[in-house]
Amino acid sequence: MDDKNKCHVCGRDAFFYSEYMKKELCLKHFERMLISRARSTVKSEEYKKRTFRIRDDGSAASVFLKFIFREDGKSSLTLSNLTVEDFTIDVLRYFIRGKKPRDRVATKNTFNPLYTTSESELEAFMSAKQLAYKKRKRSEDDSYLLGIADDVEKRRPGGMISAVRIGRRMGII
Ligand SMILES: [Zn+2]
Repeated sequence: MDDKNKCHVCGRDAFFYSEYMKKELCLKHFERMLISRARSTVKSEEYKKRTFRIRDDGSAASVFLKFIFREDGKSSLTLSNLTVEDFTIDVLRYFIRGKKPRDRVATKNTFNPLYTTSESELEAFMSAKQLAYKKRKRSEDDSYLLGIADDVEKRRPGGMISAVRIGRRMGII
């Protein structure tokens, strides 16, 4: 049987191919995967709070966060919206340019639940919801570093997530 372009969970027509998982997913299971991955990062940090402030800059990442987390303007923990690309750039800047990282995945008052979520996943999510997707604007050097990361990702899917995990373990980000 040819299961190409079929969801590996339920066999329905595929909506998204995850290079990282090397699996096809239908819309329902794609959304479930994205949502549970973002929620599990919050759980793994052992934040007891159920509600958060959400940083809103109109980006796809912010829209997605508002979709899956309960907002409370009085919460002392803000969810911010940086993705695996943003943190990969920070790690590469540190190693290649010797520059101090700009962001951290988690601080006392902020957390980035999308640090293992990619822009292409957010783009697919937005298109499924028929919402406009705005690509994040980057500096020339950041775009150059992201190009390097994209090449690695193509040859070794999951490379960006690995770089971010290493960066976290080393306390860089
Ligand atoms: Zn499915």
